[in-house]
Amino acid sequence: MATLIDGLAISEAIRNEVKAGVAELKASRGITPGLATVLVGDDPASATYVRSKHKACAEVGITSFGHVLPATATQAEVLALVNELALQPEVHGILVQVPLPDHINEETVLNAVPLSKDVDGFNPANLGVLGVKGSKPAFAPCTPQGCIELLDRSGVKISGKRAVVLGRSTIVGLPVAMMLLARDATVTICHSRTVDLASVTRQADILIAAIGKPLFVKADMVKPGAAIIDVGTNRIADATRKSGARLVGDVDFDAVKEIASAITPVPGGVGPMTIAMLLKNTLLAASRTS
Ligand code: NAP
Repeated sequence: MATLIDGLAISEAIRNEVKAGVAELKASRGITPGLATVLVGDDPASATYVRSKHKACAEVGITSFGHVLPATATQAEVLALVNELALQPEVHGILVQVPLPDHINEETVLNAVPLSKDVDGFNPANLGVLGVKGSKPAFAPCTPQGCIELLDRSGVKISGKRAVVLGRSTIVGLPVAMMLLARDATVTICHSRTVDLASVTRQADILIAAIGKPLFVKADMVKPGAAIIDVGTNRIADATRKSGARLVGDVDFDAVKEIASAITPVPGGVGPMTIAMLLKNTLLAASRTS
C-alpha cells in the first residue's frame, strides 16, 4: 500500500516558510512583496482562481494588486497594462491569468511579462531556458515545480530514476519533463500518439500524469513500487454528492495505491502546490530587487 504524498500538508509547510521569508524581507530591507494579477473577461473559473491567489497572498503577507479588464479589451490594452505593471516598483510579480480571450495572442502577452517579474514562469523565454543544460530559468513554472517539490519533500530520489511523463503541454508536461531531466532522471514523454503507452508507463519509477483524462492510469500500467504524481484535475458525475460531481485525477487512485510506493491524491495533491509555488516565486522576485 502506497504512502500518501500529502500536498495539503506540504503546501502548508511551504506557505509557512514563505510567510517567514516575507516577514524577514520586510524587517531587514523594508520590502513588501507585491503580486499583480491581470484577469481579462468574466470567466467564473478564472475569477475564482485569481481570488484564491489573492487570498493566499494575504495569508503570507504579500500585497496583491488585482486588475480586471473586460472580455472586449484589445490586445493593445492588455499589453499596455502589463507594460505599466512592469515599471511599478511595488509590483514584484505579474500573473496574467490564462486562458485569455480568443482574440488576444497569449504568447505575445506572456512575452511582455519581464523575466524578472515572471513569477508564473510562463514567459516563453523562461520556459525555453529549462531546456538549456546548466541554465536555470528566472522562475520555474509553478505546477511543474510543485510536482518536483512533492517528490523531494517525500524523499523520492530523482537522480538515475526512470521517469515517465504523460502529457507534453507547455504548462505542465514538457516543463516537468525538462526539470526531471535536469535532475538526472532518464525521462520519457508520452502523448496522444504514443503507441503501446502501458508498456512505457510500466517502466517508470516515477510517473507523472498530466493528460486531463479521468482515472486513465490503471494499476496494470504501473510498475510495482513506483512513485505517482497525479496532476490531472477532472470533474466527473457523482450522484452521491450534493453537487452531483466530484474531482478525480488522471490516475485510478484506489487501484494504483495498492501497488505504488507513494501517490498523490486528487484533490489535495498537486493542486495546492501550484499556489504555494506562486507565493514562493513572488517572494524570490521581491528578494532579488535591489
Ligand atoms: P493539455 O494542454 O490538454 O495537454 C494534455 C496532454 O495530454 C497533451 O500533451 C496530450 O497529447 C496528452 N494526452 C491527451 N490524451 C492522451 C492519451 N489518451 N494518452 C496519452 N496522452 C494524452 O492539458 P494540461 O493543461 O497539461 O493539463 C493536464 C491536466 O492537468 C488537466 O486535467 C488539467 O486540469 C490539470 N492541471 C492541473 C493543475 C494543478 O494545479 N493541479 C495545473 C495545470 C493543469 P497531445 O500533445 O498529443 O495532444
